[in-house]
This record gives sequence, C-alpha cells and structure tokens, in this order.
Amino acid sequence: MTSGAAVSSYHPLASPASSPIIGPVTAPDTELAAAIAAVHHRLAAAYGLPIRQPHHEDPVAGLILTILSQNTNDRNADRAFAALRAAYPDWQAVMRAPTAELAAVIRSAGLAAQKAPRIQKLLRRLYEEQGHFDLSHLAALPVGEARRWLTRFEGVGHKTASVLLLFAFGQPAFPVDTHVHRVTRRLGLAPEQATPDRVMALVEAHAPPDWFYPLHLNLIRHGRQVCQARRPRCEACVLTDLCAFYRRRERETARPTAP
Ligand code: SF4
Repeated sequence: MTSGAAVSSYHPLASPASSPIIGPVTAPDTELAAAIAAVHHRLAAAYGLPIRQPHHEDPVAGLILTILSQNTNDRNADRAFAALRAAYPDWQAVMRAPTAELAAVIRSAGLAAQKAPRIQKLLRRLYEEQGHFDLSHLAALPVGEARRWLTRFEGVGHKTASVLLLFAFGQPAFPVDTHVHRVTRRLGLAPEQATPDRVMALVEAHAPPDWFYPLHLNLIRHGRQVCQARRPRCEACVLTDLCAFYRRRERETARPTAP
C-alpha cells in the first residue's frame, strides 16, 4: 500500500539555506519542527513529492491488505490479496469461508494461520456492529477518534490504522513502519528508545498534515535505498548534516585511540 506512488519534482521556495541542528527530542518544539522540516525539504528535493493517489476503491480492502502486509513485503501481501479477491466474490464470502481454506488462499502473505482468523474476526465484528462492511463513516471522524475506532480490532495497531486513514481517506495520520521508525531515530527526530507510536505522535505534533503523505513515502524510500538497516550508506546520503547517527559516528571515528 505504500509503493508505486507517482512523484512530482520538487522546487522548494523556502527550503532552509542551512540546516538546523537536530537536537534531542527534549529540545524545544520549534527545534524539532525545524528539524523535521529540514528533513522533509531535503528528501523532497532528492526524491520529489509523491502525489497522493487512491489505492483502493474500498477502505475495507485497504484494511485487509494492511493486515496481509504485516510482517511481510508488499509483493507477497499484494499476491495474497489478489488471490483472496479471485477466490471470493465479496466480504460476506470471505467472512463465511472455512478458516483453513482462507488461510490456504492467502498463504503467500505468511503467518496465514494467524491472519485468516484475524481477517474473519474483523469482518464479523464490522458486520455485527454495522450490518454492513462500509467504513466510510471514518472520513467524517477526527483522526484520533478514527484511529481509536480502528484499533479496537484485533490485529489493527496504530500503524495499520494510520495507513488506512492516510491512504484510503486522506486523513492527517502519519504511519510509522520499520523504515520510518529506524530513519527518524537515526536522524535524531526521536529518541533511540522511542516506539513507533511515539514517533508517530511526535511527527504528527510537529509537521503540517500536508507533509505526512510525502514524508512517510520518502522516508520509506530513503530507508530502503540508503539508510538500510544493517549498513546505512551514509556516503550516498543527502541528510548527513542533519543526522545524529552520522555526527556520532564521525566523532567516534575522529577520536584519538589511547596509547
Ligand atoms: S547519514 Fe547515514 S544514518 Fe543518517 S540518515 Fe543518512 S544513511 Fe541514515
């Protein structure tokens, strides 16, 4: 759900001429906001501004796809979702299918024995509560309320809820996946021990909602292509002067060794 976005080139009118020092998260809010702004502008200049486009005609489809994508890559999740769509004519049929059969259908997503009952439980609860599978009422709720409503369902955490709210409804939510979590903490936008939910709260509190979509996608792209988990390619990074991890590593490298 996070791949394949169109991108427009980016010409910042007010891009910071020099980079602010990224302080720890305990720094005044304005410093954190400036640090996030600097990262956003720099990534937008490097990768462009992804253009928001609807990924799914049906928000329930988006929700189920995000459950399928947990602990696997987009390709496997997309394959499982396509198989599910091909196997069942509607959500009623998915809800009523034998669980083992559904697990076999979605096996390419991995953890199918957990995901199949989770999907059915979610559909059952939606249907019991509303008498239908429509989620369009979420569009009218404030984002915090919509997120609380969604996270009542087993298997729907803040990331899944935020992905759905951002991508399917265009709501001002900032999803934090493994790449966003890693890159933001290396940059020093959040403390090392910050949970993904904490990073989400920090960014949502310190960046304009219009940036959530491009910043989320650009951080993922940066995490995949440059700031990789095992070995960040700092030599190819456009964020070195904004990065706490890089500064720390430079200091350690420059430190004279004891005689
Ligand atoms: S300088 Fe290195 S650690 Fe920092 S964001 Fe870039 S690649 Fe990641």
